[in-house]
Amino acid sequence: MTNFDIVIIGSGMGGLVCADILGREGYTICVLEKNKQIGGCLQTYVRDKVIFDSGVHYLGGLAEGQNLYQVFKYLGIIDKLKLQKLEEDVFDKIIMENDDKEYVFAQGYENFIQHLLKDFPAEEKGLRKYCDKIKEVCSKFPLYNLRTGGDIKEKTSVLEIDTRAFIESITIDKKLQSVLAGNNMLYVLQSDKTPFYVHAMILNSFIESSWKCIDGGSVIGKLMARNIRAQGGVIHRNAEVTKIIVEDGKVNAVELKDGSHVYGKNFISNMHPVRTLELTDTSLIKNAYKHRIKSLENSIGGFVVNIVFKKESFKYIKHNYYYHKEGHVWTLVNYTEANWPLCYALFFSASSRSGEYAESMTILTYMKYEEVKQWEDTVNTVSEEAERGEDYEAFKKHKAELLIDLVEEKFPGLKNCIKSYYTATPLSYRDYIGNDDGSMYGIVKDYRNPLKTFISPRTKLPNLYLTGQNLNLHGILGAAMSGLVTCTAFLGNEDIIKKIRNA
Ligand SMILES: Cc1cc2nc3c(=O)[nH]c(=O)nc-3n(C[C@H](O)[C@H](O)[C@H](O)COP(=O)(O)OP(=O)(O)OC[C@H]3O[C@@H](n4cnc5c(N)ncnc54)[C@H](O)[C@@H]3O)c2cc1C
Repeated sequence: MTNFDIVIIGSGMGGLVCADILGREGYTICVLEKNKQIGGCLQTYVRDKVIFDSGVHYLGGLAEGQNLYQVFKYLGIIDKLKLQKLEEDVFDKIIMENDDKEYVFAQGYENFIQHLLKDFPAEEKGLRKYCDKIKEVCSKFPLYNLRTGGDIKEKTSVLEIDTRAFIESITIDKKLQSVLAGNNMLYVLQSDKTPFYVHAMILNSFIESSWKCIDGGSVIGKLMARNIRAQGGVIHRNAEVTKIIVEDGKVNAVELKDGSHVYGKNFISNMHPVRTLELTDTSLIKNAYKHRIKSLENSIGGFVVNIVFKKESFKYIKHNYYYHKEGHVWTLVNYTEANWPLCYALFFSASSRSGEYAESMTILTYMKYEEVKQWEDTVNTVSEEAERGEDYEAFKKHKAELLIDLVEEKFPGLKNCIKSYYTATPLSYRDYIGNDDGSMYGIVKDYRNPLKTFISPRTKLPNLYLTGQNLNLHGILGAAMSGLVTCTAFLGNEDIIKKIRNA
């Protein structure tokens, strides 16, 4: 019977970062992944011979010396990734209903300001204030800057800034306000909740530099998996954990769906914290804590249309688009059946086979779990294939057509270029990621009570830890940072941060 030093439940970004780093530190590692493919949101899938990403459409902070670059360099994967830098002068275009202009977000702070000044020439003061505040807020988070130490008071001083109030404070120009909040699907903005630090950390990473993984982002997970195995670690796929077994005040083993047990000295869960608590059979974790975690709101889910283009029919575009309907930028999650979709994001996949023409395009918009709740008793993944029924297929088709019609308004002729399309709903994400409601980014942060929405990597059980997007911040960068937080809690010091900084 193997007794691993660390058993990691789930192979999402956070779980793999923990496995790779702690394996390097000499621990014996076992990763248990319920799916056939590792990676969680890093997973890709192939339709009509075209690769689609599930949750890595672009990445920030990957230029030399920047935060994610240093993490990937330390893990020895940066040089093995096939990366494409988005256009220097435009990584995102913000477009709106009843406005023919395309507002440009450019890489590099000065470039970012200069491009927005073309459309808002009187707003230099406000734009500089906006950029300075983003930089100032980001500087308060030591780990984000791969620094050790830091004064907690410094960080708490910026946690309560309201994104909307701040943006409205730097300019009275409503259009500029809408533009600055224009790519808010990146962090599911809720105007009565979203803290400015979330907006700042995400925008900062893309303004610093924006990249795509050519042929999909799953390679990030595969390269880490290769490292983990090279260090002697094991990764079991199709290994769903169904119970976390507690004996004598600590976790002793986990039980898998097939009834087998995996034993360890320590356990890290990359599952949603609510799911982790549901599977942990102990009275040592107080109901009050369980209720608190369970009461935290999850972000809305997503509806995705992945389009395969006819050969050489649609030119490749090296930037993303974010669209929203007029007057709704602060309330995109509050759509109704009548006005859906209120927004969309468009991503073009970078392929090594073609530079001039796009092979595919992904359209992403919001979808509440309630819309698919009637099919929630069905499960459908590659390993557990099942039909959800004709009515579900008809629902998806109807939604896809509405969304494609809206995108066609921006790109006339789009429909003629479509060879085929494939959809994903919050149920698809629920089944592949293993959360309860297909939430895109996990637990929602709240500037009104920020500490309530931070989850510690430690639990009441001395050898059970948490990791992943629900801890600090979502996104590949956020989940990587969460992995680091878990590692430092585990290693008992912050030496690892110094090693990464000096990699
Ligand atoms: C539609 C969408 C688009 C996105 N686009 C981007 C983007 O362009 N750029 C970006 O930076 N971020 C993006 N993100 C966010 C980013 O992908 C996630 O924040 C991040 O990957 C989450 O990592 P994680 O560590 O929390 O693990 P997750 O990806 O949540 O993975 C958790 C893992 O645990 C496994 N698991 C769950 N339960 C069990 C169990 N019982 N037993 C065993 N294994 C289990 C799951 O199968 C999964 O592999 C996107 C997300 C979505 C949904």
